[in-house]
Amino acid sequence: MSTNFPACGGRMEYVCLGCGARYPHDSLLYACPKCDNVFLLENPDFSSLKKYDGLYWRKLFDERTASRSTALRGIFRYYELLVPFLAEDDIVYLGEGITPIVEAPPALRSIVGVPFSYKNDGQNPSASFKDRGMACAFSYLKWLCRRHKWDEVLTICASTGDTSASAALYAAYVGPPLKSVVLLPKGKVTQQQLSQPLGSGAAVLELPGVFDDCMKVVERMAERHNVALLNSKNSWRILGQESWAYETAQWFDWDVSGLCVFVPVGNAGNITAIMCGFLKLRELGVITALPRVFGVQSEHADPVYRYYAAPPQQRRWQPVRVRASVAQAAMIGNPVSFPRVSALAERFIAEGGENSFQMIQVTEQQIMDATLLANRHGHIACTQGGECLAGLVNAKILGLIGEQERVLLTATAHSLKFAGFQEMYFTDSFPPEYGVTPDKSLDNRPLLLLSENSREGRSDADYAELAADALAERLQLEKK
Ligand SMILES: *Cc1c(COP(=O)(O)O)cnc(C)c1O
Ligand SMILES: [Zn+2]
Repeated sequence: MSTNFPACGGRMEYVCLGCGARYPHDSLLYACPKCDNVFLLENPDFSSLKKYDGLYWRKLFDERTASRSTALRGIFRYYELLVPFLAEDDIVYLGEGITPIVEAPPALRSIVGVPFSYKNDGQNPSASFKDRGMACAFSYLKWLCRRHKWDEVLTICASTGDTSASAALYAAYVGPPLKSVVLLPKGKVTQQQLSQPLGSGAAVLELPGVFDDCMKVVERMAERHNVALLNSKNSWRILGQESWAYETAQWFDWDVSGLCVFVPVGNAGNITAIMCGFLKLRELGVITALPRVFGVQSEHADPVYRYYAAPPQQRRWQPVRVRASVAQAAMIGNPVSFPRVSALAERFIAEGGENSFQMIQVTEQQIMDATLLANRHGHIACTQGGECLAGLVNAKILGLIGEQERVLLTATAHSLKFAGFQEMYFTDSFPPEYGVTPDKSLDNRPLLLLSENSREGRSDADYAELAADALAERLQLEKK
C-alpha cells in the first residue's frame, strides 16, 4: 500500500430523498427537479469498495495520517468515501479536519458525573466545523469550473455566521473564477463572525429578520439565477462533514461501540452527515458497531426535538418560530435537512436499535452555564458546544447514558466567536427574551490595578515598583 494520491475515476449520484430519482454528479443540483425534495450523494459503485475488507481500509486511512500530500492531509484522507473523481489539483486544503479530541479534566468529569471528551471543531481554519463541508464543496466547484470552463461563478449562502465565514475564506483562497456573496440576518451573527467574511473580501449583505428569512431568499436566487448555493442544501457540504465521523472512529481505533455522540442541531446538516459517515463505515466493515447519536436543541429553536418527542404514530413535521438563543448558530426554526435527518435516523435505528438516535432539549440558562463551566475547565467550547454539555447533563438525568458508555461532545466552533454572550453573562446584560440569569459565582471581569493617571510623572522603575506592590496587595501575597 502506498500513500500516493489514489487513482481517480469514480462516480457519485444525487439521490432524491422524496421520490428516489438519481442524477449524475456533473451538474450542481440542490433539490430534485421532479419533487423538490433534498438530496444525499451516493457512490453507485460503493459495493466495489467492499472487495477490500475493513482491515484494508483501516490500514490505508492510518497510513495516510503520515502523508506528505497536502491533498490527503485533511478530510480527503478518506478520499474513497468522499468524492472519488477529484484530481489532486482540485482539492482545496486550508488545514481543515483532523481536529483534536480533548478529555474533560477530572474536576469537570466529577461535576458532570460522566467521563467525556470534546472534539474541538473550533480548531478548523475559519474556527468552525463548516470548513469540513466547504473544503468538499469548493473542491467539487473547482472540478466543475475546470470541466465546464466557467470563467465566473458567484457563490452565495445564507448564514447564522459560520457558513459565511467559511464560504468567504475558501472563495478568497481559490480566487477567480469564484466570487463570494453572503447574506446574513442583521444583528443575528456575532461581531467576530461578521468580521470574517468582511476580512476575506466577500460581498456581505444584511437582511432584517432571522436566518430562516435569509435561507428563503438564497433558495430563490439559486432557482432563478446562475449562482452556486453553499448552504447545507448543497449535498457536497454534507458529504465533507461526514469526515467528522471518520476521524472520530479512527481516533477511537475504529471501535465506537458504547460511544455516545452529542451534536447541536440547527439546519440539521451536521447530524445528518455524522450519521451518514458512521453508516458508511459500518457498511464497509471499517467499524463493526454504530455509536449512539444524541441531537441537542434549545427550547428556543427546537423543531426536531418536538418532532421526535411525540409518539411515533403522532409525529408531524412542523417548523417553529425561533426565539432569541445564545446557541445562535443553531437558531433555526425550519431546518433544510429535516428530511435527511428523518431518513438517516430511521436507518440508524434499524441498524443500531431504538436508542441509537435521540433528541434532547435544553434551556438557554443551561447552555450558558454549561459553556462557562466547560471553559473554566480548560475547554474552548462555543455556546453550541455548551449546548452539547447541557444535553449530556440532561441525558444523564433522564437515565439515558449507561455506566459503561463513553461520551463525545462536539464543540462546533471556537469559543472566541461567541465571546459576546460571555460578556453579557458577566455584566448581567442579557436582553430579557433570552431568559438567562447569571450565576454570580461565575462572574469574572478585569480589575484596574492603579488609577488611570498613575503612570504620569513616574520613571519606568518607580512605576513597576508601585504596580508590583499594588498587585501583591490585591493578591494578598506575603514578602518571602
Ligand atoms: C452551523 C452550526 C451549527 C448547526 O449545524 P447544522 O448543520 O446547521 O445543524 C452548530 N454550531 C455551529 C458553531 C455552527 O456553525
Ligand atoms: Zn424527487
